Amino acid sequence: MSNPRLVRSVWASVAGVVLLAGCAFGSHQPSPRPAASGSKSRPAAPAVASPAASPKVPPLIRSLRVVPAAVSQGDTVDIRLSFNAAPAAWQLTVNGTPYPAYPVGVDRYRLLLGTDPWSATGSFQVLLSARGPAGTVQAATGYRVLPRAYPRRTVTLPSGKVALLSPQVGQEEEALAGAALAVRTDRQLWSGPFQEPIPGAPIDSPYGEQGVYNGRLEWFHGGVDFTAKTGTPVHAAAAGMVTLARHLPRGGDTVIVNHGQGVFSEYLHLSRSEVAVGQVVSAGQVVGLVGATGLTTGPGLHWGVFVNGIPVDPLSWAQNPPA
Ligand SMILES: [Zn+2]
Repeated sequence: MSNPRLVRSVWASVAGVVLLAGCAFGSHQPSPRPAASGSKSRPAAPAVASPAASPKVPPLIRSLRVVPAAVSQGDTVDIRLSFNAAPAAWQLTVNGTPYPAYPVGVDRYRLLLGTDPWSATGSFQVLLSARGPAGTVQAATGYRVLPRAYPRRTVTLPSGKVALLSPQVGQEEEALAGAALAVRTDRQLWSGPFQEPIPGAPIDSPYGEQGVYNGRLEWFHGGVDFTAKTGTPVHAAAAGMVTLARHLPRGGDTVIVNHGQGVFSEYLHLSRSEVAVGQVVSAGQVVGLVGATGLTTGPGLHWGVFVNGIPVDPLSWAQNPPA
């Protein structure tokens, strides 16, 4: 089926033109994502490959599992692993692509992987290799990404904002936001489900909505748009640290919050931000006020959640987040 290079190429071309709906946003940056395996078969069951050196010595790898074993495009894959003793070295790959995992306890780690409407569907193999006193051992498991149908609509942008669609503007945006989304923090800063940033506000454009922009560009919506009046307070979805608070060409006045372990939330089109880079925020803290800045057709908030660089469905983090 597809290969990682092809997927990245498609992704890059899409990110270059824009991924917007109603407001602006798809994604800030191309992100590595595994290609699906050719087989549509069920994922292999976890299996420690190496024979035990001695019945009295527990295997180096204690567990490797994916929760859940199947997700839909837009969901987050939760890969957990643990060791019975600290290995000398270890590596976690998904269909051959290595990913960093974050500590969640003594000799326990987790990798959260985002998926989106551009993610390949099918089966993915998760392979854990670890080196210990008895040599290198491996464990394998897998998961499936299932297609999800998204609504489609056509949007016409005012002529005064069409220039924001140029590839040059897209590159500038990606350079600015990409750095803020690439900050690595080992510690989990959030706790529990994410809060919607404007409680009770109606949704104007859902995540994943696809469309033809001014009759020619296709995109998917990388977040959720809420309808709200200019000046409405925007609250942090969860605790974290601000990694960006500035004007972006398409995002307008934008705040990005780092929640740790590769998870970020973003708030676009603000009339004003109320936080500064480096500031620690608590869940529900006001980070800015609703506006109509950047690539948007009117006042409202675009809320996005990124996991390992992939814009996932923010509502999945409000309703059914990883534990
Ligand atoms: Zn939006």
